Amino acid sequence: MKPVIGVMPLWDDEKDSLWMLPGYLDGITEAGGLPVILPFTDKIDEITQLADMCDGFLFTGGHDVSAGLYGEEPIGDLIESCLKRDVMEKVYLEIAIDDNKPILGICRGIQLINAALGGSLYQDIPLQYPTKITHCQNAPYDVPVHTVSIIEKTPLFSLLNTTRLPVNSLHHQAIKQLSPVLKEMAISEDGLIEAVYMPGHRFLWAVQWHPEYSHKTDSNSKAIFSEFVKSMI
Ligand code: MN
Repeated sequence: MKPVIGVMPLWDDEKDSLWMLPGYLDGITEAGGLPVILPFTDKIDEITQLADMCDGFLFTGGHDVSAGLYGEEPIGDLIESCLKRDVMEKVYLEIAIDDNKPILGICRGIQLINAALGGSLYQDIPLQYPTKITHCQNAPYDVPVHTVSIIEKTPLFSLLNTTRLPVNSLHHQAIKQLSPVLKEMAISEDGLIEAVYMPGHRFLWAVQWHPEYSHKTDSNSKAIFSEFVKSMI
């Protein structure tokens, strides 16, 4: 039996519709897992029942995290958030942590996890963290645009065995205050936290870059999906 991984659905406000990028599913499938796109619900009893059916959870990219989740007011009109998605994902996260089930966060995923666990975010990097580094690249999205330094003695370093990793980058928000239960694993050249893990949890990793776009061509991206699925076997 392959491990079943619940994938947080992407939400299209305009079409009022679920959608999905195939890279998230392919990354899991190629690593030996069975991805299941979760329905869009914030009903706690439904989430609890669905979470029971999953061996692990992928927190995907997409919307900005609502500033209210980390106790701030949104600055200007820059934030495009989806409160129902935040509520839903926070419940899944809490259940997964309680049940010690593996969790991988990607892009919004790292932000949502950090905010839900007591950290905060830069709401808009260009406005609040001016930098020369490209954090929001144009297509093609599988091409690296900046590097991160991987911190030694972290699980990511153990996996990739390098301190310097070129990554793609498609975000305008980032971790500001790190959650007290998370530890940093990678930092961009300009000092932003780009990967974290939760010590003591079976597997909770999150990255700010996008292995779902690069897992077919980049062995390091593929290795992250493999390590995630392997933690369930
Ligand atoms: Mn970046």
